[in-house]
Amino acid sequence: MDWDQLLKETIRHLQEYVRINTANPPGNEVEGARFFKKILEAESIPCRIFEPSPGRGNLLATLKGNGKRRPLLLLSHIDVVPAEKEQWSFDPFEGVVKDGYLYGRGSLDDKSMGIVEMMALLILKREQAPLKRDVLFLATADEETGGRWGVQWAVENIPSLKESEYALNEGSYVILNGEGIADQYGVSNGQKVLFQLELKAKGTSGHGSRPLPDNCNVKLVHALEKVTKWETPYNVLPMVKEYFSKMAPKQPPDERKFFEDIEKGVSDPSFSAKLTSNLIYNAIVRDTISLTILRGGNKENVIPSESTATLDCRLIPGSSKEIFLREIKKRLGDEIEIEVISESLSLSPSPFNTDLFQAIQKFAAKNDPGCPVVPVLLSGATDSRFLREKGITTYDFCPFRLKEKELLLVHGTDERISLENLKFGLKMLLEMIKDVAT
Ligand SMILES: [Zn+2]
Repeated sequence: MDWDQLLKETIRHLQEYVRINTANPPGNEVEGARFFKKILEAESIPCRIFEPSPGRGNLLATLKGNGKRRPLLLLSHIDVVPAEKEQWSFDPFEGVVKDGYLYGRGSLDDKSMGIVEMMALLILKREQAPLKRDVLFLATADEETGGRWGVQWAVENIPSLKESEYALNEGSYVILNGEGIADQYGVSNGQKVLFQLELKAKGTSGHGSRPLPDNCNVKLVHALEKVTKWETPYNVLPMVKEYFSKMAPKQPPDERKFFEDIEKGVSDPSFSAKLTSNLIYNAIVRDTISLTILRGGNKENVIPSESTATLDCRLIPGSSKEIFLREIKKRLGDEIEIEVISESLSLSPSPFNTDLFQAIQKFAAKNDPGCPVVPVLLSGATDSRFLREKGITTYDFCPFRLKEKELLLVHGTDERISLENLKFGLKMLLEMIKDVAT
């Protein structure tokens, strides 16, 4: 295979894709869908555009297999977040290539993923690779503002998607350490459960010069003190246990045994205190509570009659919402009203003992010997929740190698991807697909 030629082709397509402004809102993803359609149809890969709302386009392409296995779904989103042009070194919708990087909004999130997925499809088609399962390519609208016109719509309205055995989506990466050596292949197979609460305190309104015993702000502050100090119990999922045990060899000698068996580890008070001072670790071993909004009063000398607070809680999948709520109420006391304002389904993580996971492991062992491939529980939410809800084993994994500081370029100024990464990503994705589909 002529990788230099393929890389050139990949760069050219990504530049053209970045030049289509799909900042959401409004999205205008249908232009991106048409871009894919033109390329795919020129190589005789059947595809179809779905436009559930004007301008909100989704594209599905299918590379047919012999049907012995259920389909593999390659997912990406067409929309991007807006960019503040003045802050950038180059126009964010120009696709400038400079010093080994391609700059542009979406160059990491998520247009590069869409392009390497499409390239993989083109290569499989050109090679006439014998497929034992269909390979589906789905580029969707509306990821950045909730997925209503994108994946959520697609899984409800395109029956063939639900047949998929596996789906690959954005989320985690191959993380490099400071020296550029691969530290972990993070494959996210699950995410925490959203559970947002609004609290309300009521009291008598009056003049600020005469303090009142039932001041709603005081009541709310006291209640919040108790609830935010609650140290929620540890709840270690098997996948989280696996994550820590695989990361154990990289830890200082005295901590290794705790990582190897993290359930035991968290029962050691001094180790657990240290562990949970790491925000990422803390978020994957327990339910968490963040106080995000406080509202009470709007005039210096008036005691208000009502004040509210919002708690952004994220639960470990499988945690009981009822028990959690009961514990919260216990700490808030009787005078605070509580309402669930937003919640997601509690979905089990996708299994990680699959041939797709093994394909990633095989690739990692060959290219980065000794580097662990770890299942990652995401504390935030991705579109994958809509697929897991339909029983599709879904991994959030972009085949790109990034240093931690490069991760900050997602949604950031001067978002860019190295050309080296485009080549690596295409090679890896192609090898993974061949492993599970040919
Ligand atoms: Zn994204």
